[in-house]
Amino acid sequence: MKLNDLSSYWMPFTANRQFKADPRMIVGAQGMYFQADDGREILDGTAGLWCSNAGHGQPRIVEAIQQQAAKLDYAPPFQMGSPAQFELANRLIDLAPEGFGQVFYCNSGSEAVETALKTALAWQRARGEGTRTRLVGRERGYHGINFGGISVGGIVGNRAMFGALLAGVDHLRHTHDPQRNLFTQGVPEHGADLADDLERLVQLHGAQTIAACIVEPIACSTGVLVPPKGYLERLRAICDRHGILLIFDEVITGFGRLGTPFAAQRFGVAPDIITMAKGLTNGTVPMGGILVREGIYETICAAAAEGAVELPHGYTYSGHPLACAAALASLDVYREEGLFERAAGLEPLWQEAVHSLRGLAPIVDIRNLGLIAGIELEAGPHGPGTRAFEIYRRCWEEGVLIRVTGDIIALSPPLIIEEEQVAHIVDTLRRIIAEVD
Ligand code: PLP
Repeated sequence: MKLNDLSSYWMPFTANRQFKADPRMIVGAQGMYFQADDGREILDGTAGLWCSNAGHGQPRIVEAIQQQAAKLDYAPPFQMGSPAQFELANRLIDLAPEGFGQVFYCNSGSEAVETALKTALAWQRARGEGTRTRLVGRERGYHGINFGGISVGGIVGNRAMFGALLAGVDHLRHTHDPQRNLFTQGVPEHGADLADDLERLVQLHGAQTIAACIVEPIACSTGVLVPPKGYLERLRAICDRHGILLIFDEVITGFGRLGTPFAAQRFGVAPDIITMAKGLTNGTVPMGGILVREGIYETICAAAAEGAVELPHGYTYSGHPLACAAALASLDVYREEGLFERAAGLEPLWQEAVHSLRGLAPIVDIRNLGLIAGIELEAGPHGPGTRAFEIYRRCWEEGVLIRVTGDIIALSPPLIIEEEQVAHIVDTLRRIIAEVD
């Protein structure tokens, strides 16, 4: 056995053969930088995978995890608790929009989505609306990779090879409207009417069949699609009119990415359920969860017999002690270092910096909100996605980590980024985009 043989590990969402022919290995991380195995420092323009909001190797979080591992490595979560789970739930409710009551834990964004969808179905049934089994998602939505998530999700490549998926799912159209909203800085002007798709689905299927509608406030994974002005409000109003639960998938937008704890606060629209993961533990220990509005837990409990398990759902690692310790320490760091406010303060500079790339030949659109940006390129001469991937590869070689999806570059740096680092990311991109064909 050769320990450095790359063939045994089947890598996720990776072109395995291409990677193994030309690997990119990370061996360390500190602050705004990853360290590559050849000793190079790589400036993190993506907060890992949209998750390391406080940067890497944050001493307080590291210490909390180390101490927790020594004190209580594991506690079974069914029919027993450990104090940090309750403390964390209270802290999260304090961060949530007004009117949220409970937190349920899981281990990832994908599991948070499954948990949210199941909770919505259980709530409808518990309140006597058991015919509401239909789930509505959106084209170009990404809700992780489990069966519920890919069913409500709207990415053909993630759905096509996996059979029939969930029955009774429908989709809104996505909100991307390049004809009217190109190069918008911040929230696009046009497209609130696209929310009326939900009204159309109500007319088609009947409200009494629809349990919930799930959307990402900003569809990040499919290229940073910022919701048009008034869109989320309109979705909220249609859900209210028809007894449909509104779920915001905030796996990326939670924990300061938009300068507020959740996107719900940034947009001033409160859903009924919020999913979270990633920044919850600053990416350090896998953890996800949902926040539910007051009344959901109570209704589900009231429908179950006294002494019965009210919601038959949960994971071996729900509320894992290491995850809770990491989350509590992350929340401390976010608060004490004022990172959400810092992100809000950096937003104008960030917006100006990314939009300064406008005019570079292959760029066909630039979009941004909070500390997120999407830069869309015309497909290169070697086929869809190849130009963006080559830019990604070149950026890695030159010490900047970006993310690409198809022909779109997505940026989402840690909220601790400094002004010169914003400039360095944008200048590196400017040079490399101009050089790659
Ligand atoms: N939901 C959204 C909006 C996401 O962006 C992601 C991941 O990027 C997920 C769910 C899935 O999260 P995970 O990869 O932790 O399962």
